[in-house]
Amino acid sequence: MNQSTKMVAVLGSTGSVGVSALQVIEASAGRLQAVALSAHSQLEQLLLQATKHRPRWVIATDPQAASAFDWSTLPADTELLVGPEALTQVVARDEVELVLAAIVGSAGLESTWAALENKKTVALANKEALVVAGPLITQLAQTQGALLLPVDSEHSAIFQALQAGKPGEVQRLILTASGGPFKDFSADQLQRVTVADALDHPVWEMGPKITVDSATMMNKALEIIEARWLFGLAADQISVTVHPQSVVHSMVEFIDGSVVAQLSPPDMRLPIQYALYYPERVAGVADRLDWSRAFSLDFEPADFDRFPALALGFECARAGGTSGAVLNAANEAAVGAFLAGELHFTEIVPACRSVLQSHSFETEPTLDQLLAVDRWAREEILSWVCP
Ligand code: MG
Repeated sequence: MNQSTKMVAVLGSTGSVGVSALQVIEASAGRLQAVALSAHSQLEQLLLQATKHRPRWVIATDPQAASAFDWSTLPADTELLVGPEALTQVVARDEVELVLAAIVGSAGLESTWAALENKKTVALANKEALVVAGPLITQLAQTQGALLLPVDSEHSAIFQALQAGKPGEVQRLILTASGGPFKDFSADQLQRVTVADALDHPVWEMGPKITVDSATMMNKALEIIEARWLFGLAADQISVTVHPQSVVHSMVEFIDGSVVAQLSPPDMRLPIQYALYYPERVAGVADRLDWSRAFSLDFEPADFDRFPALALGFECARAGGTSGAVLNAANEAAVGAFLAGELHFTEIVPACRSVLQSHSFETEPTLDQLLAVDRWAREEILSWVCP
């Protein structure tokens, strides 16, 4: 192991971002090493990853699943840790330089928090951390002098494009959205959407939660909130355009009218690699655009009537406080109910709006208050569910 090896903790290593990150690490010829891997219940895959990458630690966050699993073939130099608290312990260890936070949902918040507290560079694939606790997270990163790098493809694109100007020269951010599988559906067709329809995304291959979020465009709503806090801009400086090819990953418009974009095929390995090697760029494993053949890029305005999640995103980005945590938790619970066949597709967003409207808003919540409204919002969704 040479001096320049960067030690990476991959939290959520069996999810789609985690798997892509391990491909980037594998292709790094020793420049990157997975020092810790974590999974919740896909322990078979975690064991295979551990055998290949030989991390110092593997973390199984679900104690029940971990105790029922046969760990006898775990490499002898890899230590098994069990339970969610192991995540916060491992990210504090000196051996960890960079934490790839790829645990889905608000479950990833505590380990992201602990990593920043310990001054670790965090490559943030978990957008919920910023949606739930944006002002607290960015402030913590700042006071600890910890680097917070986006992995979400849109935010990585913006982060890269921002380097073309000074902060005061930014007019606005333009987030691109694929539009999801129902981009051209009428209101009537949306009424008939099934779970199988929603899980069939035309461009990106992702986990079920984010795929449904893409179909409702709630994913873009969460990304609006994420961008608002990550880049410290007003909600009114963010806009959304629908771009079905997902080649332009987002753009920055500067005050002189210049728009700087980042383009590449829809392949998560590129934004992951950019964050893992930052501030360096290296030749990697991601697909490249083929400029020898004709292709076109389309842009169209987002439809706020058929996709009311977008308005909720802007409202929460504007309001701040507890609203992002409520929207995020309500949506997670509503998507869970939809996937279980207990809530209709077109009820996901109205359920979230109703929970948002009935919550008691707090302007400057503490982390504990945010976790409390998170629990509250999940329970509120139950009143919408017909089992
Ligand atoms: Mg994204």
